[in-house]
Amino acid sequence: MDKKVNELILKLNETHSLTEAEYETLIIGRGYFAGDMLRKLAVKTRKEIYSDTVFIRGLIEISNFCKNDCLYCGIRRSNSACKRYRLSDDDILACVDEGYSLGFRTFVLQGGEDAHFTDDRLCGIINAIKSGHPDCAVTLSLGERTKESYRRLFEAGADRYLLRHETADKVHYEKLHPAEMSFEHRMQCLEWLREIGYQVGCGFMVGSPHQTASSLAKDLKFIESFSPDMCGIGPFIPHSATPFAGCDAGTVELTCYLLSVIRLIKPNILLPATTALGTVHHNGREKGIESGANVIMPNLSPLSVRKKYELYDNKICTGEESAQCVQCIKARMERIGYTVVTDRGDIKK
Ligand code: SAH
Repeated sequence: MDKKVNELILKLNETHSLTEAEYETLIIGRGYFAGDMLRKLAVKTRKEIYSDTVFIRGLIEISNFCKNDCLYCGIRRSNSACKRYRLSDDDILACVDEGYSLGFRTFVLQGGEDAHFTDDRLCGIINAIKSGHPDCAVTLSLGERTKESYRRLFEAGADRYLLRHETADKVHYEKLHPAEMSFEHRMQCLEWLREIGYQVGCGFMVGSPHQTASSLAKDLKFIESFSPDMCGIGPFIPHSATPFAGCDAGTVELTCYLLSVIRLIKPNILLPATTALGTVHHNGREKGIESGANVIMPNLSPLSVRKKYELYDNKICTGEESAQCVQCIKARMERIGYTVVTDRGDIKK
């Protein structure tokens, strides 16, 4: 098995492509030595393109109101224990200004699907950010919207959109979401975003309930064919007030292994070491960077709401000021030989 997996890793390193069956073998057959070899190739690939730099994105969690009821998510609408909040335009712009002075040149506005954030309102916010800071990129992560809405937000100046596909396996998708949500529609949204001209990010959770090596292989094949600019992956972590409360979290090991695989599928991809990875292990984000990730997204949300944007239990970085978070990330990266840069951090073509 080891020999077969080693051959697949070398093939992936050269051709950036495997069949779905080969991806599945790569996952099922992995062992310590294969993982080590894969990680070294992923880091080498990443360094050839991005050297030892790490891009930072300021994450602003604009609302935890959500009309959806995703079974894994702590801010799902049926979690009545969730204390709901939404930021005002002034709150958001204040976070951006503070982030700018801390060296951020990309701001990610993320939230639940909250009808309060109409196109008009979001266009106003995007306009204000871009006119105040023309050298910055704006990334949106606000779930599924209409094509017209995506177009208006793009025309207002949004540069990038993150919409994790969650799983490329339709049967699996249906086990993670209520019947009113559709796999086809989520995938359709990703196509629209691409067509409109956004830099697009997809992604999935590692170790989500009912996930199999076969569904992960579909995720990898999807990433290969869709060829996103960004890909957000992090371990699934149970939230106590969801139907998946009793499920196991995803592991650091498999998450890092998949980060390396994704780096080899698409060498120039923007790949974050996520907060969820930092939550399951105290050095999870460092391990992610050392597996081929090149982006970190520190939290810039106002301290007063940090704990309320609780997608999963025990989320880290909910108690520190933004400036402290940035200092902490810089120190963590320096300790492992990487440098955080003040840059929009666009994908290198
Ligand atoms: N409403 C937006 C943003 C969702 S939150 C959207 O639909 O895109 C961002 C991501 O957090 C989700 O896409 C999901 O992959 C992840 N997430 C949600 N619950 C999680 C959990 N319990 N553990 C780990 N990641 C989770």
